[in-house]
Amino acid sequence: MRNRVVAALLTLCSAAVLESQSRPLVAPAAAAIYARLLPQIETIKLFDHHAHPALPDDADVDIAPPPPGGTPLRMRDDNPETSAAARALFGFPFADMKGAHGQWLVDKKSALKKQYAGAKYFDEMLDRLGIETSMANRVAMAPYLDPARFKWVFFVDCYMFPFDNSALAAKNTDEAVYMPLQTKLRRQYEQALGLDAPPATFDGYLSFVSRSLAANQARGGAAVKFEAAYFRSLSFDDPSREAAAAIYDEYRRGGVPSADEYKTFQDFIFRHIVSEAGRLRLPVHIHTSVGGGDYFNLRGVNVLNLENVLRDPRYATTTFVLIHGGYPFDREAILLAFMKNVYLDSSATELILYPTEFKNVLKHWLETFPAKVTFGTDAYPYNAALGVEEVYWMGVHTSRTALAAALAEMIAAREITEQQALPMARAYLHDTAAALYK
Ligand SMILES: [Zn+2]
Repeated sequence: MRNRVVAALLTLCSAAVLESQSRPLVAPAAAAIYARLLPQIETIKLFDHHAHPALPDDADVDIAPPPPGGTPLRMRDDNPETSAAARALFGFPFADMKGAHGQWLVDKKSALKKQYAGAKYFDEMLDRLGIETSMANRVAMAPYLDPARFKWVFFVDCYMFPFDNSALAAKNTDEAVYMPLQTKLRRQYEQALGLDAPPATFDGYLSFVSRSLAANQARGGAAVKFEAAYFRSLSFDDPSREAAAAIYDEYRRGGVPSADEYKTFQDFIFRHIVSEAGRLRLPVHIHTSVGGGDYFNLRGVNVLNLENVLRDPRYATTTFVLIHGGYPFDREAILLAFMKNVYLDSSATELILYPTEFKNVLKHWLETFPAKVTFGTDAYPYNAALGVEEVYWMGVHTSRTALAAALAEMIAAREITEQQALPMARAYLHDTAAALYK
């Protein structure tokens, strides 16, 4: 009798842990279709268009690491969903990661890293997650990431900030962290080309930027990444080459440019990079959603600020990926995907929003330009216990279930047929993004 009570309690406990992963609410008329679609969607191999794969202690994970700030409910470290992720990947037996529970997970992962030595550990993780390929947003690639599975996305904002950045760093505590890192990365790029200072002329500087992009591409770079919204508005004017050259000549050896002068210079360099990336066939990834930190400017990141650049015929051969799909301006973002060279990535949105709300975002996108929407997680290592592995899992689980729910509701509403749904699912989860890096 007692054993039976214990057995019943254990069943209840494990059910509670399994149930602690949120899932989308599906309209009743679509419930049976959802149940049919989900297992098929779970077999589709994934192409993760945006992630930060790294071990917890790897400083190369990001050039603009998120400073402390407010965190939405779902992304707090007491979210029970993270334990469900660890349970699915590692058999984690606890309901939270506090103290000894977190240590259990750290120990489990170190044992697996011994079993799967070198680059095999993260290959094994991708296999467990059903991910074929993941983009890797990193300062530099790591020897523990297999280049056959992880494609390097390198940061390019630093080319816009070659002057004395002390006035920008003094703006607030976020910029005080970001600006020295931008200077450091630009110096690394200079050193990689054998330069010990910015070139003497503006023409020389533009040539340095172009050669540096090509050098990173030769080192495996598959796309460039702008995190510009963390440092400035995404509103880029179209200044003349002479105006930018005059500012370069004035400040390359020292002195602090005025805000207007620096913006003029940055706007010109941004457009130079966009144009050169098109020539080099490097897709341009742009962070277009809400961001971390206390001083992130939401008005400045509004994706409509980019409209003049995205619709500029001079950049028709550049591929743009609106990373994080513009959230909370996701409705505006999908209308910019009207342009044949503009794509959306859904990463981070699926982590900030619970699946029921993310389903609605995805459904609207799929109802508008289904061939322009791509899957991503924004997986990032949060701490020693809650690693990139669990965040990948949450992104994968949320996206698959929200996708199945969105398509099921579209089928129930007779917008599409069930036969159309699976190609649409494969396009979003893999095919559309994979085709950009062929
Ligand atoms: Zn990211």
